[in-house]
Order: sequence, then structure tokens, then C-alpha cells
Amino acid sequence: MPLLPIFGHEALRGRLLDSLAHNSLPQSLLLHGAPRIGKQRLALWLAQVLLCDSDDKPCGACPQCRKVLDLNHKDLLWIFPQLRAKEADITPEEAADNIATASAERAKVFGLYDTPSGMEGIHIPVMRAAVKHAVMTPALAKRKVIVVGDADRMIAQEGSDQAANAFLKLLEEPPADTFVILTSSSPGKLLPTIRSRVVAVRVAPVPDDAVISWLRHLESLRSDKENKALKGVELPQSDREAVGIASGAIGRLLDSQSRAASSGMAKRFIEVARKGDNQRAASLALSQTGWGARGAFTDTLDALIDELIDQVRTALEAGDDAMARGAAAAVDLVEEAKTRAYGNNNPQLIASNLISEMTRLLRV
Ligand SMILES: [Zn+2]
Repeated sequence: MPLLPIFGHEALRGRLLDSLAHNSLPQSLLLHGAPRIGKQRLALWLAQVLLCDSDDKPCGACPQCRKVLDLNHKDLLWIFPQLRAKEADITPEEAADNIATASAERAKVFGLYDTPSGMEGIHIPVMRAAVKHAVMTPALAKRKVIVVGDADRMIAQEGSDQAANAFLKLLEEPPADTFVILTSSSPGKLLPTIRSRVVAVRVAPVPDDAVISWLRHLESLRSDKENKALKGVELPQSDREAVGIASGAIGRLLDSQSRAASSGMAKRFIEVARKGDNQRAASLALSQTGWGARGAFTDTLDALIDELIDQVRTALEAGDDAMARGAAAAVDLVEEAKTRAYGNNNPQLIASNLISEMTRLLRV
């Protein structure tokens, strides 16, 4: 599924196009601004501009543009926080493969994604992959672009000075055909050595009519029955509600629905475990996929812990010691499941095991 069109940021886009036309677009940029405001979408738009073959950039129709929009352009590397690879030290090639796989996952949902969890970061092998990408000859376009989303999540580790220095060198002196675009909603957390090597550009909130246009666009995609990718995404009921939630940051519309969804999902886990209904348990486990699967699943587990702690309290008040013990033991199970979820295991499998173990403890 191609990336959703970009909504808003017109003035800034005009300025960036102007700079490029005057050959004054810095090769190392930092787009900073409030969370969920569309900085990475803007960075991908700029990547499309930089790779586009047409005079009227970005044309949206040339092979370069189409590949960027499909997140499948060999000269574009889009890096963002991920869980650490299971193997301690993977090669830059393996890191690049992981990133390509993660991008392909995002491409299935129009490039939309959840806010990364606290466990996700940009690890050293990925930074090595970026440095490697920069020195290669462009595969298809005349240039290469590296987008580093949430760049403040870059994790410096001991013994990794070489990789960190290579990355700093890339920012300071990118090859003539390479542009590096960092984004961050906490630019203060970036190392000063990084900040001093990039030109900072502030990204402002988008106007309300951009929020509403985005909403219309998503509604029209969802009304296409053939299109299953957005199943499970709940949208605000009215334009007024959407504008209120977003306040200029379209991505917040996705965050707010995922919180409500995880609490509802946690309640369903408990209900199914109580009833010991194997068939419903299986379909509930299988539904832990699709839209923002892993982030949504760990959010569900967090909501499940809150819900179970409530149940312990209620059971104790009612003098039901057996139920209180069962719910307390279930909290431990969910904590273990969380560890497994962060360890890159399959959410569907973890959910299936969790529900059957919870049934043993909670069945009434
Ligand atoms: Zn084009």
C-alpha cells in the first residue's frame, strides 16, 4: 500500500523546494517539532523530491516516486527505532535487512505506525548500515537519502565509538550525492556532537483543515471493502473530535484509538480466559496481528496488568481469596509474556499461551 499522501506543512515544503532549486538545501538536516506532527512523513516527502526524475518534483508518477511511496526504493534508507536484534552483534547487511523488513511491514498499512515503545531504539548495527548506505553508488536515482526517525533514540554503547564516529563523519561531510534527514521531537536529547553537524528546521503543527482532509482520506480508504489493512483502526466520530484530539498533530488520532483499543482488548482476554472458551481464545490470539501489531500487543499486556490488579482488589473486597490469588498469579504470567513480546517473539503465539495459562488460574 503506498504511503498516505502528505497533509499540511505547505509553507515549509515550499521553502524546502526553494532551497533545493537554489542548490542551498543542506545535506544534513534535522526536522524537529512536537510528537506525531508528521516529521517523518515530511522527511519521506523530501526524500521523494530528492529522488524524483521529473522537473516538477515530486511528480508522484515516475518510477522513483512510486518506489519511494511504496517504501521500496533502494536509494532510500528509512531508519527508525526497533527492538534490539536477538543476536548481540549483527552485521550492517543484516541490520539493513531488518530495517527493510520493518519498512515493508509499515508499507502494508500505508506507512502508518505507532509511537515506538520505550524498549525500541536505533542500535549500532543500524547506524553502521546507514554509513554503508551512504558510500554506495545510487542504485536507481541520482542521489541517496537516509531518513533517521526519532534520531534521539540512537543508542551509543561502549566499544562502539568507531561506529558513532563514522556516523558523525557522515553527518559532517555526506558524500556529494547523499542527504541525511534526522527527525526528533526531543532534539535536546540529541548528542551535542550530532546537533552541531545538522541544520535544524522546525516543523509546525498542521492546520485543522489538514487534519480533516487526512480523516476524509482514511475514511475513504476504509470504506473500500477489499482493503483490510486498516481493519481495527478506529477513527474519531466527528471532525470536531478529530481536530480536538489532534491539535495539529495528525498522528495523535492513531495514538488515542490504540489506548482505547488496548483496554477493550485486555477485557476480552480476561473474559475469554474466565469462560475457558477454546475457540474464542484461538481467534482472539490470531487477531493479535495487522495494524501496529507488536506495539498494540504490548499495550494490551500493560492494560491487562492494570485490569488484573483491579480484579485482585475487587476479589479481596468480596472475600474471594481464591480469585484474588488467581488474578495475582495471572499478573506474573502477563509480566513474563511482556518479556517475551519485547524479545521479538510472535504476538499470536504468546497470546495463545497466555490465554490458556490464564484460563487455568481464572476459570470460574
Ligand atoms: Zn517523480
